[in-house]
Amino acid sequence: MSFTLAIVGRPNVGKSTLFNRLVGKKLALVDDQPGVTRDLREGEARLGDLRFTVVDSAGLEDATDNSLEGRMRRLTERAVEMADVCLFMIDARVGVTPTDEIFADILRKKNSHVILAANKSESNAADAGVLEAWNLGLGEPIRLSGEHGEGLNDLYSQLLPISEKFEEMAEETGPETDVSLDDDDFEDDEEVEYEIPMPTDHKPLQVAVVGRPNAGKSTLINKILGEDRLLTGPEAGITRDAISLRINWNDTPMRIFDTAGMRKKAKVQEKLEKLSVSDGLRAVKFAEVVVVLLDAAIPFEQQDLRIADLAEREGRAVIIAVNKWDIEDEKQEKLKNLKEAFNRLLPQLRGAPLITVSAKTGRGLDRLHDAIMRAYTTWNRRVPTSALNRWLAGMLEQHPPPAPQGKRIKLRYMTQAKSRPPGFVVMCSHPDKMPDSYSRYLVNGLRESFDMPGTPIRLYMRGQG
Ligand code: GDP
Ligand code: GDP
Repeated sequence: MSFTLAIVGRPNVGKSTLFNRLVGKKLALVDDQPGVTRDLREGEARLGDLRFTVVDSAGLEDATDNSLEGRMRRLTERAVEMADVCLFMIDARVGVTPTDEIFADILRKKNSHVILAANKSESNAADAGVLEAWNLGLGEPIRLSGEHGEGLNDLYSQLLPISEKFEEMAEETGPETDVSLDDDDFEDDEEVEYEIPMPTDHKPLQVAVVGRPNAGKSTLINKILGEDRLLTGPEAGITRDAISLRINWNDTPMRIFDTAGMRKKAKVQEKLEKLSVSDGLRAVKFAEVVVVLLDAAIPFEQQDLRIADLAEREGRAVIIAVNKWDIEDEKQEKLKNLKEAFNRLLPQLRGAPLITVSAKTGRGLDRLHDAIMRAYTTWNRRVPTSALNRWLAGMLEQHPPPAPQGKRIKLRYMTQAKSRPPGFVVMCSHPDKMPDSYSRYLVNGLRESFDMPGTPIRLYMRGQG
């Protein structure tokens, strides 16, 4: 049983464009000229592993007379009646208009389940509009760009619980209400590759380079810049408080965050500040991928451990880069020791890449770039529900869950609720009684089976009913 999503909103906000993207065929016409699409159209949508029906409520466009409001009401009401959920779209570049407010009213009165989307948000020009959208009182707006395919992750996250609700309803009303983990339940499995949102010029990959003073952060960033002359944008690190640099590193659009190092690059005569936790925190919060830069001579100092742990707790993809490798001899032995120390001191980052580099000579920088890209991809990974549940069945068989007080905990069903970092929900009996060791068994298994080394993985146990 799947659900129906209606896309509603005033003309020209981008409804048909999103509809096309979800349906994947040019079913709806798109045009700059208002008035191209007519009335309601329906299509079968897919988003990641979700399947649902989508309704595009165009057809209001040619109402230039006073009847606009009335027609809009009727059409929106019809769409709302057909739908289980409404995606209410505004144009973030324009902001909230009086017509948008009329829509918001209709939706509120209909008491429908509404997802608010601020579309055309691919550039900063949309920032103000996104903020304004909060005022509609329909919750947090999704920052969307139907045209560029951005924000679909967030749309997915909001649709997932709805989809689950309908799946549950289907189970409840179906002939067999006993939900056992049987392979047959997941037979019609179509393993859809979820599209990883690759960095674009509009949304560069956000990388933070953190580490103690003198680890070599500014040398590293200068080296990357030296090899890439495509430094662009007004934020290019030449102002005093610049904390970010926009670069294309090996053709990947990136924004690199650093605090102290950046100031030195700007040759501002300032004493190099100690990297305070708050500086580090700020850079980490901005980042998708965090590179913890260590000095090979003094690796894994307290401050390094703290920032790496912080990055993990914030759910960022983490890479350990050991710098000044050019002056190390006995490299093999040293590397072995480093890996041992890493596993012992940062077990929470098990499997995260450890790369040796020399910011000075540039050695290892390509490997660092590739490690960043891989970590980013893993961090964005989505595992199809069917594959997940087949895997879970195997895990349960291999090592059944514990039975506290003689009652075996039943794990019924599992789904990935989010990515960036990957988060999974396990439906089970007595979620509060689940021992950490069993959760760890599952998390480690997920890492291995679905190739997600090093990324923070969140596992949520949820009871049913
Ligand atoms: P509808 O009337 O709401 O169905 O809007 P359309 O889908 O026909 O889009 C109206 C115009 O907005 C078209 O020119 C689209 O190319 C453009 N558009 C749609 N989505 C986006 C977006 O995310 N960003 C930008 N910049 N333009 C978009
Ligand atoms: P930051 O405080 O983290 O920005 O560190 P800097 O980039 O200012 O580097 C601190 C010192 O380490 C400087 O003297 C650099 O020349 C030196 N350094 C940085 N990277 C390397 C490297 O890869 N090899 C060697 N031998 N020295 C380096």
